[in-house]
Parts: sequence; structure tokens; C-alpha cells
Amino acid sequence: MKREESLERIRGAPADWDFLVIGGGASGLGTAVEAAARGYRTVLVEQSDFAKATSSRSTKLVHGGLRYLRQGNLALVRESLRERGRLLQNAPHLVHPLAFIVPHYAWWELPYYGMGLKLYDLLAGKFRWNSSQAVSREETLEHLPTLRPDGLRGGIRYFDGQFDDARLAVCLAQTLEDLGGVALNYLRVESLLKEHSRVRGAIVRDLETGHTCEIRSRVVVNATGVFTDAIRHLDDPGAPNIITASQGAHIVLEQSFLPGDSALLIPETEDGRLLFAIPWQGRTLVGTTDTPIQELSLEPRPFQAEIEFLLRHTGRYLTRQPAERDIRSAFAGLRPLARASAARTTADLSRAHTLLVSAAGLVTITGGKWTTYRQMGEDTVNQAEHAAGLTPRPSRTGNLRLHGGAEETGDTSHWGAYGSDGRDVHALLGQRAEWSEPLHPSLPYRAGEVIWAARRELARTVEDVLARRTRALLLDARASAECAPVVACLLAKELGRDDRWIKEQVSAFQTLADSYLPRGWTP
Ligand SMILES: Cc1cc2nc3c(=O)[nH]c(=O)nc-3n(C[C@H](O)[C@H](O)[C@H](O)COP(=O)(O)OP(=O)(O)OC[C@H]3O[C@@H](n4cnc5c(N)ncnc54)[C@H](O)[C@@H]3O)c2cc1C
Repeated sequence: MKREESLERIRGAPADWDFLVIGGGASGLGTAVEAAARGYRTVLVEQSDFAKATSSRSTKLVHGGLRYLRQGNLALVRESLRERGRLLQNAPHLVHPLAFIVPHYAWWELPYYGMGLKLYDLLAGKFRWNSSQAVSREETLEHLPTLRPDGLRGGIRYFDGQFDDARLAVCLAQTLEDLGGVALNYLRVESLLKEHSRVRGAIVRDLETGHTCEIRSRVVVNATGVFTDAIRHLDDPGAPNIITASQGAHIVLEQSFLPGDSALLIPETEDGRLLFAIPWQGRTLVGTTDTPIQELSLEPRPFQAEIEFLLRHTGRYLTRQPAERDIRSAFAGLRPLARASAARTTADLSRAHTLLVSAAGLVTITGGKWTTYRQMGEDTVNQAEHAAGLTPRPSRTGNLRLHGGAEETGDTSHWGAYGSDGRDVHALLGQRAEWSEPLHPSLPYRAGEVIWAARRELARTVEDVLARRTRALLLDARASAECAPVVACLLAKELGRDDRWIKEQVSAFQTLADSYLPRGWTP
């Protein structure tokens, strides 16, 4: 994937595109892959980097959603479990089954949670992985050696999926290109083009050069997450706002806090939610919170109260109480929640996501979750075909292997995420001795992965490499800041940048990394 070549394809496009998708998160990428797989000429534009917003800040679970089970939303759980199964089949390099344990301390918890999880097994139908089962106190402690043993009666073990969200986003951008589409980051939609009162494209600004260009398209899809209303207002300045946002924060701790092979599910927090402590890439990921928020930002900050909430609840269940100084990184993401009034006017209200078509034909997809991104894409393209008067074409993504997913590597380390590209990555690393060098003693990444990210994964900045192509920023914010100068130099050589660019990139990334550590949190 070369950015210049993709830009050329847009500038030189002889005819209209079929689909222009705005937004390079889960919803936009899912929609673009769906459209391209049906044979539509498709282009996706993202104002920042792929998955820069909510889609790199999830709990990294591919799951049916026990929360929805508790709410009695069985249709949504069934749909999510089906999509969980498809994701494991279509992206085996990025999705892995993971065992979860719900510990029980009171006698009634075993039948209560046990029955719920049996229903979860049942709803998975043929997509069931492993049945849930009660495990003894001893087995529970074998799988979760740091769980508080006093009063523990046993646990219930069940399976869900785990994935790397930002890597799946890059994989979908690559899949889109494999299907003949175009995926471009750092291209922002500034206004919409209209013809006979119908939306027929957009004017986009290249944020690297400042240049603008027109992209004409038969269908325009707004998949901009919490920024949905801003695009709707470009179409109709009087359109009512439909999105409210809620923030979810996570903290990342050393693996020693949860050294076993299973994740811990805390079934009831002070605010009646579920909380997870999960082994992830050699660390422990704890999340999440649910805080209503007014200010929409690409880089939301965790609140001090959220950090304290996560530390307090984790400490109640673990033998060692984590403290602020143990946090390697803390990050927050914004859930786009569509208002109920919007749901009433949806052209096609499908389970948890909201799909709207404006009078001028702008198709908006919002809500949902990563797990159901493919189904959201399918529903969106069906709706768009109808709205634009296109002859419907059947969906082909149900069994579509994603880029790199041809083989099951069985490798759950970060190397496994390259899938069938892994061989080429290793070959590249072998080309120069310095490319095999580790980027940092506390991180698993090699210098050559920066080159790969620039050449093959559309990485344009130090942040792209350290936050999303690798997950260094989330695994250890301080270590990631320390390797920023090396990454900037490697990237500058690949992209033809000068010393000034290197300085600016290092300074911007180090400021960002600081905000993932205590002094950057909002009081
Ligand atoms: C804390 C938290 C935990 C979660 N955990 C899970 C989980 O474990 N499993 C799961 O399945 N789901 C999870 N989710 C849900 C999932 O992460 C979201 O549903 C999904 O990422 C939303 O994707 P999106 O594409 O709609 O939005 P986004 O990822 O926000 O993407 C929208 C994109 O649009 C771009 N954009 C905006 N304006 C413009 C413009 N003018 N021009 C071009 N581009 C523009 C933005 O830059 C952004 O990248 C979680 C969500 C949160 C908040």
C-alpha cells in the first residue's frame, strides 16, 4: 500500500466511485470491505489514522456480550456470538479463544451465573467453542493464582474471543486494497458534494499537504463514530443531534498481577457493571468504566476517578492491591450512543447499531461494537443499495478470509498478528543487522517492524507505529516514549522526511505518551 499511488487513483478516477466511506474505524472499514467484496468501486477516507478514535481503545474482546444477556437482549447476543465465530474463522491470526473465570464467593452465585452462562453456550449454537463449566476452588486458583482465596468457593469457566483492535483495523484496510478498493488515512472530509439535492461525494483535505480534492460517488456513508453529527450537519445543518458519548477507561498493569492463563470477570461493580482483568500481550488489561461525557475528542483522557475505580475494584479480587505507580499505561475511548429518538426514525434498526438515511441520501451507520462490525457493514450496504437504487448484490463477507488470515499460526504473541505476512516481515528484518535490533528492552518489537509498517501498513507518523501498528503506547507508555527518537529516524528515512520533522514527531509523541501516565489524567 503506497499512499501516493492511492492518492493518484483518487485524483485520476475517470468515473464516479460507487461507495465513498467516511471514517476508518470498525464501522467504516467493515462497510468498505463489504462494498468492495460485492464488486463496488470503493474508497474509504480517514481524517487521522485507521482506528485512531474508539476502534483502538476497546477491551479487545470478540464476545457475545454478557451485559446484553443480563439485559435480556438475546437476539443481539446470538448475533454477536455468530459474528464471533466468523471472526475466528476469517481472521485466525488476530482472534483467539480465551478462558474467563467468574469467581463465586456466595452460595447463590454458582447457580445464578452458571445458568446465565449455559444460556450463553446455547445461544452460540453451532458457533459454540467450549461449554462453560463449574470449576472447583483449587482449579480456580490454578487458573487465577493471584485471586483472593479467602471465602472463595469456586468459579465458572467459559470462553470468549480476544483480539488486537488496531491490528484488525489495519488488516481490514489491507483487505479493502486486496479487493481493489482504496483506503487512505490523513484525508479529512470537509464538505459534501450535492447534485439535484442528492449527496454525490465529498471534498477532502489531505492533512499532510493541505491540498483538497473532490471525490464523486454514488453512495456516501457516514461512519464517523462520535463525530457522526458533524457529518450529518454538512448534509443538513438543521439535522438534530443523535449522538451522546460515554467514556470507557482502561489501565494496563504488569502480567504479575494476573499471571494465569485465564481472564477474571468481576460480575458486579459499584455501578452495576461488569469489569474484566485480562491477560493481553504479556500485560494485564483492566477495564472498563462508563462515564457520560460532553467533549468529543480524538484523544480523550481518563479521569482520576475512573483510574481509582479500576484500581479499587481490581484490588478487591486480587491478592496484591495495584496502585497508581503500577500502571504502565491508561487509555480512554468514547462510545457513540444513538439517542432513542434517532432509533425511532431509523430506516432499518438492526439490533444495537443504528442505520439512518437522510432525505439527500447520506447513509449513516453508528453504534454497535467491534464484534459485529461485519454484520453492520452488510446491513449498511444493503440499505445503501436500496437508497441509491442499485440492483442488490449478495453479501460475500461471511466466509471471506481477511488479509493475512489464510493460515492459522497458533501464535498469540504480536508476531502472530502478521498472519501469512509474517514470513515477509521476518525476511525484511533479516536484510540488515540493525533491523533485527529490539526497539526497547521492555517491549517485544524490532526496528525492522517500523520499516514494514511504513512500507506495507500505511504508517505515517511515530504515533501510528507506536500506538497502533505496534501497541507499545498501551503496553508501556514510558518505554514507548523512550524509543520514539529511533522510530522517528527509521520512519524519516522511509518517508523522505527531514530533521525538523523528526524533532516535531518525537516531541508530539512524547507529550502524548506523558498523558497515558498519572500526571496526564484529568482530575
Ligand atoms: C471503552 C470501550 C470498550 C469497548 N470494548 C469493546 C470490546 O471489547 N469488544 C467489542 O466488540 N466492542 C467494544 N467496544 C465498541 C467498539 O470499540 C466500537 O463499537 C467501535 O470501535 C466503533 O467504531 P466506529 O468505526 O463506529 O467509530 P470510530 O472508531 O470512532 O471511527 C470513526 C472514525 O471516523 C473518523 N472521522 C471523523 N470525522 C471525519 C471526517 N470529517 N473525515 C474523515 N474521517 C473522519 C474518526 O477520525 C474516526 O477514526 C468498546 C468501546 C469502548 C468505548
